[in-house]
Amino acid sequence: MLIRVASAACLLLSASAFAQDDALISEDAANTARELMQRGLESDTGYEVVRSLTTEVGPRLGGSEQEARARDWAVQMFTELGFENVRIEPFDMPYWDRGAIRASIVSPFPQPLYASALGGSAASPQGGIEGEFVFFDSFQDLYDFDGRLDGRIAYVNDRMVRLQNGGGYNTANEKRRFAWLEAEARGALGVMIRSVGTDSRRFPHTGMMSRPQPNTIETGRHSPIVVDYIESEYPDYAETGISSSIPAVALSAPDADQIERIHDTGETIIVSLSVVAGWRGQRQSGNVIAEIPGRELPDEIVLIGAHLDSWDEATGAVDDGAGVGIVTGAAHLISQLPRAPRRTIRVVLFGAEEVGLLGAFAYARQNAAETGNIVMASESDFGAGPVLSLTSGASEEGTLFMDEVQGIIAPLGILRGDRASRGGGPDIIPLAAQGVPVFRLMQDGTDYFDLHHTPDDTFDKIDPDDFAQNVAAWAAVVWLAADAEIEFRMQDE
Ligand SMILES: [Zn+2]
Repeated sequence: MLIRVASAACLLLSASAFAQDDALISEDAANTARELMQRGLESDTGYEVVRSLTTEVGPRLGGSEQEARARDWAVQMFTELGFENVRIEPFDMPYWDRGAIRASIVSPFPQPLYASALGGSAASPQGGIEGEFVFFDSFQDLYDFDGRLDGRIAYVNDRMVRLQNGGGYNTANEKRRFAWLEAEARGALGVMIRSVGTDSRRFPHTGMMSRPQPNTIETGRHSPIVVDYIESEYPDYAETGISSSIPAVALSAPDADQIERIHDTGETIIVSLSVVAGWRGQRQSGNVIAEIPGRELPDEIVLIGAHLDSWDEATGAVDDGAGVGIVTGAAHLISQLPRAPRRTIRVVLFGAEEVGLLGAFAYARQNAAETGNIVMASESDFGAGPVLSLTSGASEEGTLFMDEVQGIIAPLGILRGDRASRGGGPDIIPLAAQGVPVFRLMQDGTDYFDLHHTPDDTFDKIDPDDFAQNVAAWAAVVWLAADAEIEFRMQDE
């Protein structure tokens, strides 16, 4: 892993022009940030981390042997890069295994379909299922449907809208999260959805279904018929790792288009489906942690993270090998400075994110006594596209500080985004909920959902220049936050 030390002249030139007497960031700290940015643009350490993880470990589903290998890989990687206090914090989790799948149209035009089981899907009965498709244009149509689906297969077709900030995901994802429950409550044999994604390649997108919890039965997106069903029939919904008792799968977009065309002919569609997925008992996962101890305030922590696990069908390059490389590369650049920042930088590679943020909740639980010491937290988990804006959620002084931070990273093409955000990334949710201040370097996610959760999420998709811009931005922001004495936490929390 090579670091090319670069001339920082270009970025340093702008330094004195903007220095102000009442600035929250000293000129010295700002100059160090600019130097880190320049080195970030020219270093390939973070990129090599992603190459190594995706090549030498490959796919790493939460709770799998492969994910355990990823933890060992991470310990070795952090140690070789000179990080301190490198450790694994293990936790137990229920393990779901995908198994094989076979899907095809039986009638009117027999042909195979490309499909993938959704996380939490049950197996089909021995020999598979065969049934008539009931075609719903959208999740809302299934939600509102007051008939029965006995002996048939529900199909939900709506398309995800492509937006730069990924804003089409939550709406499109409702069918992935809850269609199984709506179908099951109405007696369906199985459920199929158009993949949640924006590509038109023959790669189905997997992803976890949601498990109903007692506190989301009323408040979550469950139709009255489902609430009724959960309360009367659905077994042990709160205690078990079960999601569906019927097979639930996603079709690739071109296969979904095919279904749509056949549906338009008015013919009855009969589909056959065999799924061998299921829950396979308890396994171990873990979070991998590494630190750069602070020189003056070692108990105060700037926490940066990414998730180490991936879905099983690809090598998880953009989701979230990129995040692993970005935060590791940025922290490593800071560790190479002649002196450490005032506060500790803690890098957390969360386990088992894809299967339900299990590492994030385990981290918050296992480190509860320390939550008050985390001065700022953020995760990189939205691919490897260029950073477009800096958002934050902090005290008034912390917000003004982040305004100045954005001024320093502006030459990287980064604007100031939301100044009252609660978002720090998926694995930061449990910490943010406890009042930990957050920032986020929001990336261009226009193409992210072409790859997300598909077999096509591989290393070749990462653009080295865009990746380097991420590392440069992270190094500067994390350095500035960790070297500051600013109280980011809101006082009323
Ligand atoms: Zn992710």
